[in-house]
Amino acid sequence: MSSYAPLSPPYVHRRGIFLYVPQGVALPNICLRCGGPAVEQRVKKAYSWHDPSLYVLLIMPLIYVIVVMFARRRVKLEIPLCAPHKSQRSSRIGLATGLLLGCVPVPVVMPYLFQADWVVAVAVLLGCGMFVAGGFIAQSTTLLEIREISETHAKFTGASQSFLATVPQIP
Ligand SMILES: [Zn+2]
Repeated sequence: MSSYAPLSPPYVHRRGIFLYVPQGVALPNICLRCGGPAVEQRVKKAYSWHDPSLYVLLIMPLIYVIVVMFARRRVKLEIPLCAPHKSQRSSRIGLATGLLLGCVPVPVVMPYLFQADWVVAVAVLLGCGMFVAGGFIAQSTTLLEIREISETHAKFTGASQSFLATVPQIP
């Protein structure tokens, strides 16, 4: 199924920017963002992937959903972070949640609080700004992005250079 599987060793390694994690193998105790020592409590993530050729089925969305349900592969991974990066991520998730949850109700309430001609225009701009900012901040909390799941390995991007430098490079 996968071209690289027979060549990939059964330990965490990298090829350029790609991080390869064998099924059932844990990441080293090193912060994914900065390469510093990670705290004990890791961030639990589940990833799902299917062969990109299946996207052609999107012309029949129902068929696509059913086929992907059977064809997708999934992995669970516990991601190591240091204390500062873990708390930075938590506060960003909180901020993004607040902005996204507030981007409709805040502008809706504004005209009741301020009786002025400008208030509707400002409220619309504020709502759009909150939505965009919330989306960007939420995106910045992504730790790893799945690129492929084979029978033996999961392939990711998104690990920092400092983290990648700590795992063996396979040519
Ligand atoms: Zn860190």
